[in-house]
Amino acid sequence: MRYEGPIYRPPSEADSLLIQATIGCPHNRCSFCMVYKKGPRYRVRPFGEIEQDLMEAARRYGSRVRTLFLPAGNTIAMPTAELAAVCRRAHDLLPELERITVYGSAQYIHRKGAADCARLRRAGLSRIHVGLESGSDEVLRRIKKGADQQQQIEAGILAREAGMELSEYVMIGIGGLELSRDHALATAAALNRIQPHFVRLRTLVPKVNTLLLHQIEKGRFQLLGPHQALTETRLLISRLQAPTRIVSDHYTNYVNLEGRIPEDRERLLAELDQALQRPQGAFRPHFVGTQ
Ligand code: SF4
Repeated sequence: MRYEGPIYRPPSEADSLLIQATIGCPHNRCSFCMVYKKGPRYRVRPFGEIEQDLMEAARRYGSRVRTLFLPAGNTIAMPTAELAAVCRRAHDLLPELERITVYGSAQYIHRKGAADCARLRRAGLSRIHVGLESGSDEVLRRIKKGADQQQQIEAGILAREAGMELSEYVMIGIGGLELSRDHALATAAALNRIQPHFVRLRTLVPKVNTLLLHQIEKGRFQLLGPHQALTETRLLISRLQAPTRIVSDHYTNYVNLEGRIPEDRERLLAELDQALQRPQGAFRPHFVGTQ
């Protein structure tokens, strides 16, 4: 198997086979993201190369492979016929394969529409991780996400109605102090429409070589402290109505929240209230991450 450029995968894919179908990210503009800023440029790998990697994986791991993740920033942007062919070939070669997952931004899901999403689901694509980041139009515009709230909602519904398991990633603090409340309320409103299977929380940690870090250094963006981030999270969870599961499986979060909405909402809010009793110094420091 050959890999090119940074290889990222969700924590939930820790035991998955990783096969690259695309390299880089076709968007590569989000203000907080440094993953592909230094390249490589986005491209789709030729089907023959991907197939060779799948065949090698089948020889080495065979029936031990239950889950497959196709890494790189936006593999959903791959032409539908090619991505469907990769999914079908993976199922042919890996007899015990139960799940195929990709990352996908709303604008690329949106462009596919219902027919292509259904075609990909029939080919075996079963799970998608979408960076919602925020449901606020103003936040989405400032961070250059490439989709507004309406597109995010429609894309999420497309993926879910096609039968894919949908994770929506929310970035706590991405509106800064100025837009914290708008971010929490609009994100809850978007998630209530999308009704994803999972809401995965990440807390903003500014990264080197990003526009966002430059904005922080120039005083144009105020980072949330731990209590402000927890308060924002509290507001978001208090407004969530859609049946979903909250997961915060990431080192950036100040508390580890896990539970179902609506059943566990009061417990989650109580955990946040408890965390808010702790002094700010008890939490991880603000820091600049390198990845
Ligand atoms: S956050 Fe995702 S969509 Fe945005 S630039 Fe990074 S990899 Fe691309």
